[in-house]
Order: sequence, then structure tokens, then C-alpha cells
Amino acid sequence: MSSSKTVKVMVDDLVCIGTGNCEEICPNVFQVVDRKACLKVNPIPPEEVDCVREAVNACPVGAISIT
Ligand code: SF4
Repeated sequence: MSSSKTVKVMVDDLVCIGTGNCEEICPNVFQVVDRKACLKVNPIPPEEVDCVREAVNACPVGAISIT
């Protein structure tokens, strides 16, 4: 029996420096407000998981984590 895995994302406010890379890569999930990345949805819809993973790799300070 298989079950679909729920993917949740966290952004560490204290680490984020507001570069906007995540928003550029994955605008349906991330939005930068006052130089901090905010999440527009959570958990992440399956069709957005790939771009969230890309955003994790593109964040220069490692502020985004997937659980
Ligand atoms: S890519 Fe990283 S540092 Fe840049 S806005 Fe997103 S979470 Fe913040």
C-alpha cells in the first residue's frame, strides 16, 4: 500500500537575507515581504515540490528546509 508523502517547508527568518531567489524560482510558494521569504502555501502541493527543491539549492544561506 502506498501513501502520498506530504512535503512541508520551513524558512528560517533569522537566516534569510531576502535575496528573492526562492520567489523567482518558485513564485507559487515563496513571496519575499520586507526582505524575508514567506510561504504562500504549506504543505506544498505535489506539482510544486520540484521547484521547492530547486529553491532549497538556490538559497545562498541555506534558510529553506524541507520536512
Ligand atoms: S533564497 Fe533564501 S535568502 Fe533568499 S529570500 Fe529565499 S529564503 Fe531568503
